[in-house]
Amino acid sequence: MSPTKLLLGLTLATTACTDMDEPQLAVIESQVAVSNYVSSTCSTSVVVGLSRQIAEEIGCMTPDSLVELTPGRNVSFSSNAVLPYMSAKAKTALLKVAQTKNLQINSGFRSVVQQYLLYRWHQQGRCGITAAARPGNSNHESGRALDISNYSAVKTAMRNQGWSASVPGDPVHFDFLGSPDIRGRDVKAFQRLWNRNNPGDRISEDGSYGPQTESRLRQAPATGFEVGATCTPRAAGASVVMIEGPDRVAPNTRAHYSLTVTNYSNMDWPASTKLVVAGGNSSELFDEASWESTTVLGEIGSEIGAGAMGIIEIDVATPDVTEETPLFTQFELVDGTDNFGTINVALTVTPDGDEDTSADAKDQHDPGAEVTGGCNAGGGGPSGLALLMPALALLRRRRRA
Ligand SMILES: [Zn+2]
Repeated sequence: MSPTKLLLGLTLATTACTDMDEPQLAVIESQVAVSNYVSSTCSTSVVVGLSRQIAEEIGCMTPDSLVELTPGRNVSFSSNAVLPYMSAKAKTALLKVAQTKNLQINSGFRSVVQQYLLYRWHQQGRCGITAAARPGNSNHESGRALDISNYSAVKTAMRNQGWSASVPGDPVHFDFLGSPDIRGRDVKAFQRLWNRNNPGDRISEDGSYGPQTESRLRQAPATGFEVGATCTPRAAGASVVMIEGPDRVAPNTRAHYSLTVTNYSNMDWPASTKLVVAGGNSSELFDEASWESTTVLGEIGSEIGAGAMGIIEIDVATPDVTEETPLFTQFELVDGTDNFGTINVALTVTPDGDEDTSADAKDQHDPGAEVTGGCNAGGGGPSGLALLMPALALLRRRRRA
C-alpha cells in the first residue's frame, strides 16, 4: 500500500450517496464540530481551518491588524498548531530579527477557538496545561504575542527590535507593544462568520465572549465554515484545514498525522501526485519504513478533485536527540511538472515523549501570574474549576456540525 494513503476526496454534496460496495469511511472531517475535541487530542491543529478563517476575517475588518507570517528562512514553527499570522508592524520587526537569528516559534496568534480548547483542556487537567486564560482574554489573541522556544539565543535581538519580554515566569513569551492589542476582535470575527453561514440563527456581533458565542463556537465546523472571509479572493493552491497528530513526539519514534487538505484550484490532483520535500532537501522527519526516499514521502494514492477536501495519512520518524528539538518540513504537492501547493508539518522531539502535552502548555506561569495576561493566563480564569468540570465532556461523542 502506498505510504501516503488518501482516504477520501469529496465535497459535502457527495457524502450522502456513498456506494454500499465501497469501504465505509466513517469520519468526514469537514463536518466534525469543535466540541468533538473538548476531551480528545492535545493539539489545537485540529481547528486550524476555522482559525485561519477567523484570522482572515480580522484582516478584512481591520487591515494590518493581522497579516500572514509564513515560515521561511530563519523562521520555523515548532508544531502544527502555530497559526501563520501576526500584526503587520510586529511582523516587520520580527523579520528584522530573522535576518541574523534563527527563530523557533511555539505559538503566535491564537484564535478564540484554539483558546477555547486550551481553556477546556486546562479545566480538565489535560495536556499538561498549567494555566489558561478564558477565551477572548489570552495575550496570544492580541496579534502581537509570540512564544519562542530558543528564547535565550534571541532575547537581545528581539529587544533591539521593540519586542518586550516582560511576563514574569514566562521566559518564552514576547510582546510587540508597538502594535495595538486586538483581543476580542477574534470573537467578533467568529460571530460574523457564524452569522454569514447561519442566517437563521444570528447572534450579536459585539466581540464579547459569552454563553451565546460559546454554544455556537462548539457547534462550528473545525475545518472551517462553508463561507469564510470574503474581502479578498482566496489564494489558489492547497489549504491544510485540519491536522490530527501530536505536537510533541519522543526520539526514535514513528508518529502518524492525518492531514485534511482542501484543493483550492481548478485542477484535479491526480492519485499519482506526490508529497515531495520542498527545495529537494532531505527531511529530518524521514521514515525509512514508509517513505520513498529522504526527499520524497510518496503518492497521495487517490485523486482530490478541484474544490474537494481529502485526507492524506502520513507517517514520520523522529531522530535520536537528547534535547528538545523542533523539526519543521515543508512538502510540495507535485505531479510531473505541476506543483499544486505546499503543506507544512511541524513537531517537537522531546526526550521525555510528552505526546499528551500541548505545544501551548510550554509557556507556564507562576499561579499568581494569572492576572498579568501572559501566554495562557491573563483572564484570571478560576483554575479551581478544573475539579468541578462535569464528566459530560468525556462522554461526548463525535458529533456532526
Ligand atoms: Zn506566550
